[in-house]
Amino acid sequence: MSTVKQCEWCGSGTVNFIYRFIIEPEYTLYLRSRMISYHDHQRQNVVLDDGREFEYSFLQPNDTAIQVTEAIPHIFCSESCVDNFLEHHSVITNKSIHEKTPIYSFKQEGYFVPLIVEPREVSHREYICSQCGISFPNISKLFRAFLIKNVEEIPGNLNDGPTYRSDIILSDMSKENPNGTFYHLNFNQPMAPIDKMVKFCSNECSFDFSVRNNCMVMFKDNIMKGASAIISPFTKKINIGLRNRYTIRPHKLR
Ligand SMILES: [Zn+2]
Ligand SMILES: [Zn+2]
Repeated sequence: MSTVKQCEWCGSGTVNFIYRFIIEPEYTLYLRSRMISYHDHQRQNVVLDDGREFEYSFLQPNDTAIQVTEAIPHIFCSESCVDNFLEHHSVITNKSIHEKTPIYSFKQEGYFVPLIVEPREVSHREYICSQCGISFPNISKLFRAFLIKNVEEIPGNLNDGPTYRSDIILSDMSKENPNGTFYHLNFNQPMAPIDKMVKFCSNECSFDFSVRNNCMVMFKDNIMKGASAIISPFTKKINIGLRNRYTIRPHKLR
């Protein structure tokens, strides 16, 4: 039986969804740089004139190599949506950058410049989803689930802000919709994940798990530029309040 999943980028629902790994490189090496004195193809590293050594994970077109430490699987509706995502985050780099530096890190400079790879292009593992039991490709996405101790839903206004503190505060308010609800979530302290190695094939399954087990699911999200993101039993209600087409868009943890 095929299930409909929503595209994490545009929100369209489809049974023909695709998985793509979104990667944020640690750094890019410019292999044409004169400041690189040695390039060991076998060991996949380069040595600079000043003696520093840098490894890389794979070669890229146009004489560059990138170092990758994690790859997060995400769901898209189509190849054109993948292209649109990449275009949205693309940057124009100076063609002669290799004359100025042998290495550059967009990440360290605060820019999110992702790459996308298909699961068949990289070695990965298939994991079984803790919610639906279906397998999905993963490399380094980790999930943690925390039981919610209590919740209070308090009507409020965006400009006034919440009237009191709690461990996590979510809201369905935006500039267009300044009146809505603050969701005050509290957890047992110190916050410890529930004793279970949970993994989810999709945000849909994280959401269903959070409703069924009254918990919050936390993970790293590369659609959200590498932020820590959460899904709670209120996620759908909140996205509907925000008029988001993608009704299970995770919330960025601040
Ligand atoms: Zn899409
Ligand atoms: Zn699932």
